[in-house]
Amino acid sequence: MNASATMQIVRSIAELQNILNPRKRGGRTIGFVPTMGFLHEGHLELVKQARRDHDLVVMSIFVNPAQFGPGEDYEAYPRDEQRDAELASAAGVDYLFVPAVNEMYPRTSSIRILPGEQAARLCGASRPGHFDGVLKVLLKLFNIVDPDESYFGMKDAQQLAIIETFVRDFNLRTSICRVPTVREEDGLAKSSRNVRLEPQERDQAPAIYRALCMGKRSYYEGVSLKEVEKIVSNVIENETSGTIDYVKALAYPSLDESFGEAEEIIIATAVKFTSTRLIDNIIMSSIKDEKNV
Ligand code: AMP
Repeated sequence: MNASATMQIVRSIAELQNILNPRKRGGRTIGFVPTMGFLHEGHLELVKQARRDHDLVVMSIFVNPAQFGPGEDYEAYPRDEQRDAELASAAGVDYLFVPAVNEMYPRTSSIRILPGEQAARLCGASRPGHFDGVLKVLLKLFNIVDPDESYFGMKDAQQLAIIETFVRDFNLRTSICRVPTVREEDGLAKSSRNVRLEPQERDQAPAIYRALCMGKRSYYEGVSLKEVEKIVSNVIENETSGTIDYVKALAYPSLDESFGEAEEIIIATAVKFTSTRLIDNIIMSSIKDEKNV
């Protein structure tokens, strides 16, 4: 599928629907990449896959106030629309949807979406209401764009698992594509928040992924998941100045302590630095056979 020559920036819901609806009726398929902007190669990988699979690629950039708690970094979240527009256009986005907060939330709604247990652990435990806000904005965006397929990164593995449940349980029309985490050369997961690390913290931060890899190796060598969590925590504690929010091994995608059939295992972590909090994870097969070691 070819990228269109020029990308269009759209700020209103009505305008976006006026553009997309006739194209949909004409049989074109839509790949959708929701983001909060300050784009990096992780986001652009989602675009690349959407471009490969669909006639039209819509990206949204919206720093969603509903998913930030009091005292979190909503105001400080990095933003650079012009740079984002250049990167999105070069990557093959056809329509960049950049709504203002008033456009998305013109009035306070008395209806809330409450995800269940899957959203209560990991980031959900430290960020109460975060995933309610994520699902709220996504339901709106899915209804506005009506995509055939939506692309999400495994970097936010809990978010992705909850979205898959949401789409399945509520029969939403979009399908969901999981995209592997894109990393810096030193292993640090690419994130818009990496620019908020102090230089010394940036040097230390690759230890997070090293710790996760070490945990995975240990598990395949026969170490229990409880011990794996300790190994990962020790490496992060010893090699960074960050404070561990959690290091947890759970079934994926259920995020249960017990394992369903054919489920994988996730080791997930969140680490707080001076001005930002980083998350990362690694997935491993729950079957310990030789090729996994
Ligand atoms: P954000 O702008 O941080 O809300 O992210 C928008 C989308 O990009 C989400 O689906 C993220 O999971 C995905 N994403 C963010 N960072 C990465 C990365 N390093 N690799 C792959 N996908 C990513």
